[in-house]
Amino acid sequence: MNKPIARSKLQDQIAPRLARLRAGFNSGRTRAHAWRYEQLFRIEAMLTEREDEFAAALFKDLGKSPGDAFTTEIGFVKAEARLARKRLRRWMRPRRVGTPMLALPARSKIVPEPLGVALIIGPWNYPIQLVLAPLVGAIAAGNCAVVKPSEIATHSAAALARYLPDYLDPDCITVIEGGVSETEALLAVRWDKIFYTGGGRVGRIVMAAAAKHLTPVTLELGGKSPAIVLEDANIEAAARRIVWGRFLNTGQTCVSPDYVLVAPGREPALLEAMKAVLTHFFGADPRTSPDFGRIINDHHFNRLTAMLEDGEVVAGGQIDKNSRYIAPTILRKVSPEAPVMQEEIFGPILPVLTMASLNEAIAFVDARPKPLALYLFSRSREAARRVIAETSAGGVTINDTVLHLAVPGLPFGGVGDSGTGAYHGIHGFRAFSHDKAVLNKPSWPDPPLRYPPGSRFKRRWLRRIL
Ligand code: NAD
Repeated sequence: MNKPIARSKLQDQIAPRLARLRAGFNSGRTRAHAWRYEQLFRIEAMLTEREDEFAAALFKDLGKSPGDAFTTEIGFVKAEARLARKRLRRWMRPRRVGTPMLALPARSKIVPEPLGVALIIGPWNYPIQLVLAPLVGAIAAGNCAVVKPSEIATHSAAALARYLPDYLDPDCITVIEGGVSETEALLAVRWDKIFYTGGGRVGRIVMAAAAKHLTPVTLELGGKSPAIVLEDANIEAAARRIVWGRFLNTGQTCVSPDYVLVAPGREPALLEAMKAVLTHFFGADPRTSPDFGRIINDHHFNRLTAMLEDGEVVAGGQIDKNSRYIAPTILRKVSPEAPVMQEEIFGPILPVLTMASLNEAIAFVDARPKPLALYLFSRSREAARRVIAETSAGGVTINDTVLHLAVPGLPFGGVGDSGTGAYHGIHGFRAFSHDKAVLNKPSWPDPPLRYPPGSRFKRRWLRRIL
């Protein structure tokens, strides 16, 4: 095993690379529309020309099928970059706002400006998407950036380090690989923005490090995202969409439905329907399915297999330690106190609990940390209205799972324990911009109302116009 390198030595190694990015940002070229457009275009070109290499890396890391690699990573980022490129001029344009009487005559506008040099730290579960989609926002907003992919998805990190420099401006964008020591060394430096995706434990470390320099952060965290299935739900559709969302990427998805709360009368039908969907998606033996992946490492494999004991296995349950295979598993009769209900599962296990009423389901959700996503399956508009109004979550999808994150107009992010800040589309641009307030006044006329000395006349007028 490699000995961890001392932090000061790492900082010495990182320093010249950061100095180059600072100089790149200070050169002013990232502020130009042409630079941003070109870099976004090159991200698309890289993903088109190197699609096979990135897909191969994703397969090696996560057993990800070429279809999933394209839909959830490569194609996803290409669409994000294309949208940013096309909307860039509009996003960059200053926005006029009204000016109150007291400040007249004057013109007021909001001028978005880049923050500077950003650090983007990614996790291993969507190792390409979750660093490149934030990078699209960073570039669109005119920043320089260091991309720090997760060391756990080794092949994807290596592919990013190998290809990104071929396509993007090396004075402004760079990849720094590494694990905990390298990330700690990076976090000790002053950044203009830190964008972190991963678990809450490291999220706290990131926020504490950022606080030292008053650096703004976006934290894209996780949590236990519930799926509520009411009495009036279309059970076939609910089963298909919950199973898809839960077992996508072998359950290693931050917005996966983490557990199901179902009306007791519908539990048998839902379980039967989900079992049928599992067979339809992955065949009688999911081990042989090209659409079902493997667990990222032994640590997570061991953590997950312990959870298989936490309820009655309705489907799945088989494991293979050598290939880190865990069959798509559905559990029932699960206690809310069981370990599987205490931490985010982040694997192919779905506990199903019964909830007598919508009130009870809402109370259950509200008593726990705010989830990243919340799903409701019901035909009732009133139920949807209540769930949206009476619970807090990063995002809500009614009658489906995961898909709200694919709508670029919607901000993607958590709230409370599931994160702070958001991105995708214009929200990514905003995450890496400062909205600068600009008031522009002519020197004349200069009404004396606000200047001393005060008088009854002035006060009377001030009362009228404020
Ligand atoms: P991870 O272990 O890969 O860690 C994320 C990053 O933190 C890595 O780059 C890693 O190098 C760094 N890191 C790890 N330990 C560190 C330390 N002690 N100090 C500094 N940096 C450190 O990923 P993870 O945390 O296992 O990711 C899974 C979690 O991420 C889940 O909770 C999931 O829900 C969440 N997630 C959220 C989103 C989202 O968009 N909101 C997306 C994917 C994953």
